[in-house]
Amino acid sequence: MLTLTTKIEEVPHVGPKTAVRLKKLGLNQARDLLSHWPHRYEDFRSIKNIGEIVYGQTNTVKGKITLIRNRRSWHRRMIVTEAIIEDNSGSVKILWFNQGYLIKTLQPGDEIIVAGKVSDKSTVPLFASPSFEKVKDEQTHVGRLVPVYHTTEKLSQRQLRYIIKTLEPLMRKLPEFLPDDFITRNKLLPLNQAYQQIHFPSSDSKLTQARDRLQFDELLLTQLQVQQNKRLIAQDKAEPISWNDEAIKKFVGRLPYKLTNAQRKAAWEILTDIKKSRPMNRLLEGDVGSGKTVVAAIATLAAIRAGHQVVFMAPTEVLAYQHYQTFLKLYQDLSINIALHTRSYRALNTQDSEPTKQKLNRLLADGTIELAIGTQSLIQDTVRFHQLNLAIIDEQHRFGVKTRKTLRDKGGLTGSTPHLLSMTATPIPRTLALTIYGDLNISIIDQLPAGRRTITTKVIDQVNRDKTYQFIRQEVKKGRQVFVLCPLIEESDKLGYKSVTNEYKKLKEEIFPDLKIGMLHGRLKTEEKEKVINDLIKHRLDVLVATSVIEVGIDIPNATVMMIEGADRFGLAQLHQFRGRVGRSRHQSYCFLFTESASDNTLARLKALTESNDGFTLAEKDLALRGPGEIYGTKQSGMPEFKIANLTNVALIKQTKDIAEYLLSDDPELDKYPKLKIRLQAFGQSIHWE
Ligand code: ADP
Ligand code: MG
Repeated sequence: MLTLTTKIEEVPHVGPKTAVRLKKLGLNQARDLLSHWPHRYEDFRSIKNIGEIVYGQTNTVKGKITLIRNRRSWHRRMIVTEAIIEDNSGSVKILWFNQGYLIKTLQPGDEIIVAGKVSDKSTVPLFASPSFEKVKDEQTHVGRLVPVYHTTEKLSQRQLRYIIKTLEPLMRKLPEFLPDDFITRNKLLPLNQAYQQIHFPSSDSKLTQARDRLQFDELLLTQLQVQQNKRLIAQDKAEPISWNDEAIKKFVGRLPYKLTNAQRKAAWEILTDIKKSRPMNRLLEGDVGSGKTVVAAIATLAAIRAGHQVVFMAPTEVLAYQHYQTFLKLYQDLSINIALHTRSYRALNTQDSEPTKQKLNRLLADGTIELAIGTQSLIQDTVRFHQLNLAIIDEQHRFGVKTRKTLRDKGGLTGSTPHLLSMTATPIPRTLALTIYGDLNISIIDQLPAGRRTITTKVIDQVNRDKTYQFIRQEVKKGRQVFVLCPLIEESDKLGYKSVTNEYKKLKEEIFPDLKIGMLHGRLKTEEKEKVINDLIKHRLDVLVATSVIEVGIDIPNATVMMIEGADRFGLAQLHQFRGRVGRSRHQSYCFLFTESASDNTLARLKALTESNDGFTLAEKDLALRGPGEIYGTKQSGMPEFKIANLTNVALIKQTKDIAEYLLSDDPELDKYPKLKIRLQAFGQSIHWE
């Protein structure tokens, strides 16, 4: 019997090959197919007379087959199926390619509906590879709003639609998990109808209602998840960090610059949090170059002077390495024991030679190392701490459940959780702050250090490429450094985007044979990466050709040009990050965007970047243009993907937030709704916040 948990290979009309393809889409059970919602619809509803076909447009017509036959195309070895259908107003020719089997199902005399674009290149009306279906009581493929799904190679829309259509009986029986009064009060479509209508809408308004219902579910479950998380964290205990005012004042006073007011405020919020006996769970948010590191350094110093250990985690080894250098400088003369501890770099500021892994682990366990800098792997496997009480994670939005548990288990402070600070340069639009960040306190550095100039940003036509190279040469002559960013490491014909290896070769051999060019990408060996970064810092390189490894954090104040190839490959937030690698000093800086795509959407996005230097504005734009999954894309950021929820719908976000809060209030209402509770558990397991 067909049930929600029927394995994909046992679903009707799914053969072994199709099963493999469906699994590629992450569809392993019948249930997954039901939740594989269309990403758009073809409107094949209005059926025209054949005589009224409009060239160059999508047309849907209905007629009787008067002729159908196969022939071989003579220049290519392809089977062409030719058909003619007619109605009272005229006739039209149809061609299908390599689908010779069609003549078995379609016969002269059959009435069919055909939908697709009619070429304007031909003198007589002609459909090439249109959608079609015999006339039935209820159409699936034509004559209606037709779902279009994300699919994969060799799995046609028609096939996928057909398989999902046969699951309609399952949709009809889907058990409701929302209480009746929720459904009536919020005017929601029942779950089973919502599923049927999202796949095979009977009208525009039903489709809207289906979307509303599914969005409501997704947002409500997210809100419940976040609020539950918040409540859980609120029950944790922490060891207060009783910091020393004098030490902090002295540190700040000795900095080579004055802190901005925003930095002061953020530091104060953090210092206030860590003094409490509840663990801090704070996100420090500030645009690239806003100076988050020094704020983290203030909190770190506070913890160390109170006798605690601190761990600082960067997203990559390269960045960990750079942070180590930064902290050495910030804390010089403070005699603090700092370690760099990643898979491939190890260092200790109290010894010249490279310490062994065992030694570092020993010094962490006995508390000698006061600040440990590394990647997330630093807290894995064998490491234990003596009294870890502050954990900082750079370029992440939150600590995952697992990481929190690890820190608690290995921190050495029995029964208490370390204070947690995550930092991100990704601006978080207000609607997101209301939803998925509801469990965090947020500090915002909304001000750049004084004296920074706006980065001049331009989309450059390919014809002006040489001029750009000339400009780069001038900047290098003035003593500045340059980044050239490419989307790929090696050339890939399929995508046709520029690669680091090729561009490096081209720049080094043809364009700038007299300049010092370096190359950085994720596949280099660690020592090689380290050498490149060091060469860049020491100004032994003029131009660095790199992949997005340089996206986060790298700080080369002398760099003034960021040239980005294949800019359409990246989201706005990410491009803004790249741009943030320059303009970190008093020198005027430039960002040049190159793209080979001419799509309106791409150009609109890139234009937004030239018009705004503000991460917040750009994030809102990107959210509208691409959706959150795309903006925050990488798993690294800890952003769950929304399947359907529209995060610009503030009203719905507020509504679901209120309901979630009500359900979780002191005498948990949620307990009265066991079905919702079960659904929430399943939902919690399906979102990836690690
Ligand atoms: P981000 O927030 O992007 O991580 P960083 O912490 O790397 O930024 O800081 C960017 C640069 O700005 C660093 O070179 C840092 O020394 C400098 N900086 C930080 N705060 C200030 C300030 N208040 N005034 C001037 N320069 C500052
Ligand atoms: Mg940073």
